[in-house]
Amino acid sequence: MSHAALRKSLLAWYRANRRDLPWRRTRDPYGIWISEAMLQQTRVETVLDYWPKFLQRFPNIAGLAAAREEDVLAAWSGLGYYRRARSLREAARAIVEKHGGEFPRERESVLDLPGIGPYTAGAVLSIAFDQREPLIDGNVARVFSRLFAIDDCLGTPKSERRLWDLARELLPRSQSPGDWNQALMEFGALVCTPRAPRCEECVLATHCAARIAGRVTELPRPKARPAVLDVELEVLIVRRGGSWLIEQRPEDAARMAGLWELPTREIGPATGLFRARWQPAGLFTPGREVGRVRHSITRHRIDVSVREATLAKRARLPAHFAWLRPRAESQLALTGMARKVLAFAN
Ligand code: SF4
Repeated sequence: MSHAALRKSLLAWYRANRRDLPWRRTRDPYGIWISEAMLQQTRVETVLDYWPKFLQRFPNIAGLAAAREEDVLAAWSGLGYYRRARSLREAARAIVEKHGGEFPRERESVLDLPGIGPYTAGAVLSIAFDQREPLIDGNVARVFSRLFAIDDCLGTPKSERRLWDLARELLPRSQSPGDWNQALMEFGALVCTPRAPRCEECVLATHCAARIAGRVTELPRPKARPAVLDVELEVLIVRRGGSWLIEQRPEDAARMAGLWELPTREIGPATGLFRARWQPAGLFTPGREVGRVRHSITRHRIDVSVREATLAKRARLPAHFAWLRPRAESQLALTGMARKVLAFAN
């Protein structure tokens, strides 16, 4: 299939099948940037809920730049991968300082911003400003791997180079590059899916090298994943009136820094994700187990024993503890696991 024919088929499919997502109704680079940051690692259904609320709370770059970090984390709470939220705020501050509050239009300036890589730069520049900038995300990588039967494992320098070269080559000259990039991603999300791609109804099937060679299920070759680690935790429910005791994670924690969680102790094996701060201090007397909750953080598969506990008599709580008042969950940056345990124990 010539590139021109491929573009024509895919763009026609996109016009007829695209989902009507709210961030597709705007050309505002800020709104598009926020949606792209949220959509990395998070499902569309979840982002549909978070995106409008986030924009309502921080309606523009200046508003986000001026916000307190803890408020941004609170608005992000539940989406996970909190570095994304911190980077958004830092980048907003850099845009105010260096670009007068306007999202920059030059690729190099965009790539200089904290937390913005080639994918996000390509997405914002092509969708908001109609610039001929390519992008590769997981969906596009899969579609290209199959269409062009790329044998290299995803994530290797060689396959990255090949994918980006293809993305550049295929960018249309006479149609919107933003529509083209979105068409590729949408096609990967709806038709050329990771498992059970819908080859029978695929508009590119007659030109798909993997399909012609009967190799669809082999491609793309995944990159080696780190092994899953099973972790067991104990989480304490300590009540005072209608409030719950929570503690703040250290600012220098490798993950979820500064977020609030319920008092937590690793039973085994040690991961470094959680610290046993409450036990040596003898602050609590753990009581009966009220249930178990499953949770995942990156490659950690966590089994949580939820226990009631009481504060030791005359205990002096260190400064990183606080009481979470009833219905105040939305105002604090709680970890996803804390939200899950609170919903379970409520
Ligand atoms: S034929 Fe199947 S594998 Fe090839 S592009 Fe279409 S959906 Fe993907």
